[in-house]
Amino acid sequence: MNITLRQKMNTQPHSESWSRRRFLRGVGDLTLGALASGQAALAQEGATSGQAPAIENNVLRVSLSPQDASLTVVDKRIGLVWRQQARPGFRVALDTMSIAPTSLSTKVVGEEGTYAVTLSFAKECPHAFDLQLEMPDQRYTSLPAYPFPFAAPEKSWYYVQNTSGEGILMPLEKAEEINKPFGWSGGQPWWGLTDLKRAMLARIDTFRKPDTKSDREDRTIYATPMRINYAFLTEGGYLGLAKEYRNYFLGLHPEMQPLQERVKDRPALASLKDGVYVYLWGENPAEDLKLVTEMKAAGIERGIAAFYGRHEIDRALCDGIKQLGWVVGRYQMPTGNLFHVSKNRGWPSALLTGRLEPEKLLANSNLSAWERVCGKQVLPAWMERANTSIRDYGVELFYFDTLVVQLAPCLHPDHPSTIEENQQARREIMRKTRELGMIIGSGEGICPTWALPDLDFFEGQMSLRTYADTPLKIPAGGYATDLGDDYQPQAAFTLDETRRIPLYQLGFHDYVAGTWVWRDTNYQSTPFAWKKDLLNILYGTMPMWHITSRLWESRKAKLVASYQNIASVRKRIGFAQMVGHGWLTADRSVQFTDWDTGDRVIVNFGDRPFERKPRELVPRRSFVIERAEGERPEATYPSSCCGQWTPRSTNSLGG
Ligand SMILES: [Zn+2]
Repeated sequence: MNITLRQKMNTQPHSESWSRRRFLRGVGDLTLGALASGQAALAQEGATSGQAPAIENNVLRVSLSPQDASLTVVDKRIGLVWRQQARPGFRVALDTMSIAPTSLSTKVVGEEGTYAVTLSFAKECPHAFDLQLEMPDQRYTSLPAYPFPFAAPEKSWYYVQNTSGEGILMPLEKAEEINKPFGWSGGQPWWGLTDLKRAMLARIDTFRKPDTKSDREDRTIYATPMRINYAFLTEGGYLGLAKEYRNYFLGLHPEMQPLQERVKDRPALASLKDGVYVYLWGENPAEDLKLVTEMKAAGIERGIAAFYGRHEIDRALCDGIKQLGWVVGRYQMPTGNLFHVSKNRGWPSALLTGRLEPEKLLANSNLSAWERVCGKQVLPAWMERANTSIRDYGVELFYFDTLVVQLAPCLHPDHPSTIEENQQARREIMRKTRELGMIIGSGEGICPTWALPDLDFFEGQMSLRTYADTPLKIPAGGYATDLGDDYQPQAAFTLDETRRIPLYQLGFHDYVAGTWVWRDTNYQSTPFAWKKDLLNILYGTMPMWHITSRLWESRKAKLVASYQNIASVRKRIGFAQMVGHGWLTADRSVQFTDWDTGDRVIVNFGDRPFERKPRELVPRRSFVIERAEGERPEATYPSSCCGQWTPRSTNSLGG
């Protein structure tokens, strides 16, 4: 902020009308707090921000600068001061401020408008606070300029990002390489900063429509008021952040059962633990059954046979597959593509943010297409189709392509609904179908956590679509394409073991199965298949293949070896809770994951053998699974107060 503006602000009458008494009440505890702990930090912070209004508890002191409206957080446990990357042009309207012991409300004036801001502590969670942001006259917004993102205390820290699927750890020294920074476009709605020990998390708890494109710009739309939770950890790094979100989410959804529990009611679900997910592209049912029969005979013990609808399925095919111990699944898209409503791509976001008039869109839209976009309209007809499919063919699994992705408000005059209602209706489609005994999956562009209570697996969870996406047309032939070395640009992100981190698995491996996306299966590029297999092994996730007679014949030996390698590990940890992840070499080419079963998976992505114990080598591009004798792994991060996290004490693997 320039000096002229600051001087002008200080002479504004409203700043004088702000009650000095209230101010003193707000900072009254500061002296005691400073004496108690974090003295040096507080002194340093106080010197630079003056006597800013603040709220405080035993762990944190959160102050708001009247001059530039930035927040400063002191973590009193370790004396660490967190500041924000303030943008010029913002100030606090002090005459609107009210401070209570655990909350502070005020208006913040910025160049684009005035925000009503409330900061508050939750009693049960002293290492975090909530920020609510209201924007008058605006129901939805793109990422607002306020609140500012927190800045890392030092340059050597990392940005912890949830992409559309898995996590990525981006060095802040190369901040320009981060796509969609400091927004919530990912599958899990949080981002963080860490030096691999200390960390902060920014989580959004209100509705958003994520931008799933693979580029830097973030077109995510947010419902207002926005509510953001900021949490501060003294240790645990990105593992602690992942667990922080897990605890929060499982606390919100006590009805959620681990996958292992779900098998009791739906035995076929056990295939998600160690099976392979296979799209079959034969010419007819007989050819596909012949293929699965051969695969089984060759050693592909368990699999999910997914049918896109290239040919109609029949009872003989489905019964035959089930007799082989595989699962019969159908690709379905009960909800339609948004572009059928209007050719104006991106119309939902334009509509929500007021760039597009509802009347204008409706007048130029395909009226019948709204019936497919509107979740409530879809439900009854879909349930009828689902029941038929189950009765006639004995289908056991449905994959709902893009159901959790293509959300929109409905403008149809007979059944208008908001985008939030649309989301709820889509949850109901999944829930009601699952109640028929089905295994339910969705995904493609993003794997949003709001869907977790209603589904069993995600396609696309292993992807990092925020950074890269394969330009293949499927089903229009692309399934048979081997991208070969042309895959290199995508591999630079998707398969970069130095930056990938298993944030989704650390959060929810025991609650949702994950795999790749059908444009990017394990063998979409043969030269890179080994690396995808190793990522499946390290993360305990499901491989995905496309199969035709030709693909099976030409890759048989590789596929069988790949299956057996991955299954050997997933048989042990396929439904387990991931309790740790780390690197064993400085170049991160050797990594491990720890599991609540006591197992440790070690993967060597490198080109040299790794000596894990004297004379015990992990060969290049290989893996081992070892079991800790006697004791179970300790979590390397603190259990959070927002829902106690403890490793499950029994080896509950089934199957
Ligand atoms: Zn509708």
